[in-house]
Amino acid sequence: MSPAEEARDLLSQLGVESGGNLESRSPIDGQVIGSVAESTSTEVSKACERAQAAFLKWRNVPAPRRGELVRLIGEELRAAKEPLARLVTLEAGKIVQEGLGEVQEMVDICDYAVGLSRQLYGLSIASERPNHRMIEQWHPLGVVGVITAFNFPVAVWAWNAALAIVCGDPVIWKPSEKTPLTAAAVMALAERALEKFGDAPDGLLQCVQGGREVGEALVDNHRIALLSATGSTAMGRAVGPRVAERFGRSLLELGGNNAMIVAPSADLKLAERAILFSAAGTAGQRCTTLRRLIVHESIADGLVARLRELFARVKVGDPREKGTLVGPLIDEAAYEGMRRAFPEAEQVEVGEGGLYVRPAIVEIDRQQGMVRQETFAPILYVLRYREFEEAIELNNDVVQGLSSSIFTNDMKEAERFVTAAGSDCGIANVNIGTSGAEIGGAFGGEKETGGGRESGSDSWRAYMRRSTNTINYGDDLPLAQGIEFGV
Ligand code: NAD
Repeated sequence: MSPAEEARDLLSQLGVESGGNLESRSPIDGQVIGSVAESTSTEVSKACERAQAAFLKWRNVPAPRRGELVRLIGEELRAAKEPLARLVTLEAGKIVQEGLGEVQEMVDICDYAVGLSRQLYGLSIASERPNHRMIEQWHPLGVVGVITAFNFPVAVWAWNAALAIVCGDPVIWKPSEKTPLTAAAVMALAERALEKFGDAPDGLLQCVQGGREVGEALVDNHRIALLSATGSTAMGRAVGPRVAERFGRSLLELGGNNAMIVAPSADLKLAERAILFSAAGTAGQRCTTLRRLIVHESIADGLVARLRELFARVKVGDPREKGTLVGPLIDEAAYEGMRRAFPEAEQVEVGEGGLYVRPAIVEIDRQQGMVRQETFAPILYVLRYREFEEAIELNNDVVQGLSSSIFTNDMKEAERFVTAAGSDCGIANVNIGTSGAEIGGAFGGEKETGGGRESGSDSWRAYMRRSTNTINYGDDLPLAQGIEFGV
């Protein structure tokens, strides 16, 4: 079946009506598979007003009741896992297993947020004044704007929305203009959950469609209390200062340039599998894709030879076919980006249309030029090291700071890698690859990756405001710091 035919089928299963001026093309064959209506700037500002009105009501709904809505969204996602994952495959080009994994991640974060809705806790702090109680509470923040990238077209919305809803915040989503249909499908599922829930305020979950201008309209709207933006560092550089200018909050999840150190004691069988998945998976189009391999010189020749073999054997092709590990690049611009970094990149012929490339290995002796940038394609740069300290320095010597990993069976090296003087990234793994995070941990990175954290741990705090309360239950008015004042 052609992607267009399959998309028609899936969209009707998911309850989405295609139509409008923003077309979606499948990277599988480059053909249009459906369309949605692009939002105007007036529609964006109306959406913000509706969301603000929803906020005034939703913030008063008890958090565990808000969790019930997320539970219902999770149920809709569970039931629609297959067709939604297939649509992700059609629109973003990832293989079926990864499409399923992406939807599972949405289900997982919903489960997590439901539990969290009963765990939004503050502190009680010792007061220096007699008969005073000092506490810290977390209150809903306001409307959350969520701008997402093409490569995780639905999961990133869920990471943000599931937490925002239980925290008491309405959400307006601006998905990537390259993946509008999967967003429309998620909104249709959310609509069903809202109906079952019954009394959620109008405008609690909204979606505006379009490209950069639509994103900018959200960025500049003073109703957006938190703007969570996932995408390239260039996008974050534009968005961050604009939100800051109006004293809004932003949560930035930007590009990575992730490295793995392979030490002499490493279990090479495990390392090879991890390298293959991290470097070639999703055709190198993950923020956590492995881009730099830092190998000890004593094992480099053998490992590189083995990787070259594996990379040559990997099945590149239609992501819907069984056995395919590497699907297409998202578009022509992505292919040009790869050619700029690696002029020898050859297209693999896979039927008509679509841009398919074989993952590449490039050995370098210094970290300069293109290796310092994030090229969103499957290119793995290999560097050699002699001393452990040198490997850590190489790992850290880039402007990005998202994910990192080490393969070693030397306990001291493993421990040192995750200390303050080890990897400077938001994610530092031992004996697993750089990609494929679980939702229980906080996800995000340092430096030009933007510093934001989403998903698990205490990431929920970004979606709430802190209120410090000191309560006097005595008959005097003692001042802090022992100050005497008055008559
Ligand atoms: P992109 O930066 O081109 O676009 C991302 C989103 O931002 C899109 O919705 C786009 O319309 C919007 N946008 C772009 N410029 C904007 C502006 N000036 N104002 C407002 N909105 C704007 O990124 P992409 O090509 O879709 O995705 C790939 C990039 O995303 C890679 O750099 C990848 O590393 C990064 N990414 C990061 C994470 C993370 O969690 N750190 C996750 C996924 C992807």
